[in-house]
Amino acid sequence: MKSLYPSYDVIVVGAGHAGSEAAGAAAEIGAKTLLITMNLDAIAKMSCNPAMGGVAKGQLVREIDALGGLSGIVADQSGVQFRMLNMSKGPAMWSPRCQSDRALYSKKMRDQLEKKENLHFRQDNVVDVITTDDGKKVTGVRTQTGQTFEAQSVILTTGTFGNGLIHIGENQYGGGRSGERASVGISAALEKLGFEVGRLKTGTPPRIDGRSIDYDKLEIQYGDEEPQPFSFLTENLPTKEEQLTCWIGYTNDEVHDMLRTGFDRSPMFNGRIQSTGPRYCPSIEDKINRFADKDRHQLFLEPEGWDTYEMYLNGFSTSLPEDVQFKALRTIPGFEEVVMLRPGYAIEYDYFPPHQIKRSMETKITEGLFFAGQINGTTGYEEAACQGLMAGINAARKVNGDEEFIIKRSEGYIGVLIDDLITKGTEEPYRMFTSRAEHRILLRQDNADLRLTELGHKIGLASEERFKNYKEKKQAIDKLHDLIADYTVYPEKMDPMLKEQGTTVLSQPVKAKTLIPRPEISIYNLIEADPELREKAATITEDPRVYEQVEIQIKYAGYIEKEFEMVEEMNQKENMLIPETLEYERINSLSSEGRQKLNRVRPETLGQASRISGVTPSDISVLMVYLKN
Ligand code: FAD
Repeated sequence: MKSLYPSYDVIVVGAGHAGSEAAGAAAEIGAKTLLITMNLDAIAKMSCNPAMGGVAKGQLVREIDALGGLSGIVADQSGVQFRMLNMSKGPAMWSPRCQSDRALYSKKMRDQLEKKENLHFRQDNVVDVITTDDGKKVTGVRTQTGQTFEAQSVILTTGTFGNGLIHIGENQYGGGRSGERASVGISAALEKLGFEVGRLKTGTPPRIDGRSIDYDKLEIQYGDEEPQPFSFLTENLPTKEEQLTCWIGYTNDEVHDMLRTGFDRSPMFNGRIQSTGPRYCPSIEDKINRFADKDRHQLFLEPEGWDTYEMYLNGFSTSLPEDVQFKALRTIPGFEEVVMLRPGYAIEYDYFPPHQIKRSMETKITEGLFFAGQINGTTGYEEAACQGLMAGINAARKVNGDEEFIIKRSEGYIGVLIDDLITKGTEEPYRMFTSRAEHRILLRQDNADLRLTELGHKIGLASEERFKNYKEKKQAIDKLHDLIADYTVYPEKMDPMLKEQGTTVLSQPVKAKTLIPRPEISIYNLIEADPELREKAATITEDPRVYEQVEIQIKYAGYIEKEFEMVEEMNQKENMLIPETLEYERINSLSSEGRQKLNRVRPETLGQASRISGVTPSDISVLMVYLKN
């Protein structure tokens, strides 16, 4: 049937965190884009915790922002509390996190998307993917209302909705998340096309009425004195006094005993839930079962927004029967009178094992069809958002006939995430950790703009304003770096400060930069001790982010240089492309396991091949010789 509607360059199915970024990016780059989602009032809804960022996830949001994506801006506009985590560790570990106003996040994302000229919206439920007869090329989608929509590229970002099944104790019912229906039809259509489908599970804690809590029994947690934004464009955030507070509480043996009374009715333990959940975000029943010797677990009571009493109980994710949840909550100190607004639940959903997509997020089976977000087996808003961004960019570029846009593992956590997914696959919900990145000293949250904004601008995503800010900052960094490298400091000015900081005094004049690697010394100590240096630095800039950057660059220069050398070496393999049609059967000297794994993953570069488990260094040498010939 001919479509009633005009045809589009790109259709994005689903307006969660992946879909919002995908639609925003595709439209910004110039593709005529249609965003179809089940509920236009639930754009970028936070299904689980009202928070953005955190360890390694904060780095992802900074990278999305540096490229010109939306999540960082929206997180800043809707944050109720901001904290930089891991400040006691080195800068590679510093990770921004904010507590968000759930409703405001969704509203602000919609505002951002509505500003995009090329972006069109439709509320509907997609039930089928339309392709050419041989299934090799996507041509559009069909919705529940019977309409068809045509496009050159389609991005599926259906999150936890694919055949979603919600569990609360013995109760189970179809749903994509609490209060919303599941998406039925797409998985079957894709299976018919030859896609492999799997099941995963995740869960969420109960929400409670903040007025029913005895806060005297909890510890208070404030936001940062000097809150730092996610976006390189944000200038103002709420002050510490304006920000909302969080609270810390603990379970105890009594709570654990109460939770155990529900184990025989728990879908987790009685076999009703078969699929794997996020190992690093376990349910409370999982925690007390696996760590039986622990007599308490920490809980964070987090506000859901500026204007609501609803609170989120981080650390208490559960799918136990509702009566058990309620009674267990009431045994937590401070929660004796708690009112539960929504019970916790677990959800099982379809995902498509990600060896089926390429680096560009396009599927290998059907040209023009892209997957992004939880559908690829990840968990988390940030993980979803960055995939959406990359899929949106690449879908739009494909329509324009431009080459695919890839971020390497050495350029960003985004690159690490995508490479991990397509190379190693995932059998449990994948979340980002700093330990997944081999070059984490290079991939810091503070330098995401220096790594990525130029790339984002080149592809038409990062705005002129963003690019101008970036160039000015970079210039200032270079100038300040040169000043500190050349400037000579003298014992009479430095020694009182060095003594105060508890470090060795000078015996002769030295270059300022030689003092910065000392752990006790910051760039601010130097300029405070030497008014002339301070004056010279101030003529360059007073932007604290520039000072921080120069300090990190000088303090960690040795590590950074070594890391760049390793990247250089690795890039030789990364740049060696493997033809899509390569027949591994013809290369005799490959090990049989290596050949089998290479055939399944079909890596796009020699570097990617070298990271496939089961492919040996000798397989890589054989492959390298073969490719060179
Ligand atoms: P989603 O945010 O799920 O968005 C999917 C969107 O697609 C929705 O807007 C939906 O309406 C739309 N859609 C779906 N199917 C169709 C269709 N056929 N037609 C039109 N529109 C469609 N993450 C964590 O990091 N930690 C956690 O502890 C955690 N717990 C979670 C617990 C629960 C119960 C749930 C539901 C999610 C949890 N998550 C957790 C995951 C987090 O919510 C997701 O990782 C993230 O939202 C995924 O983003 P997404 O864009 O891929 O999908």
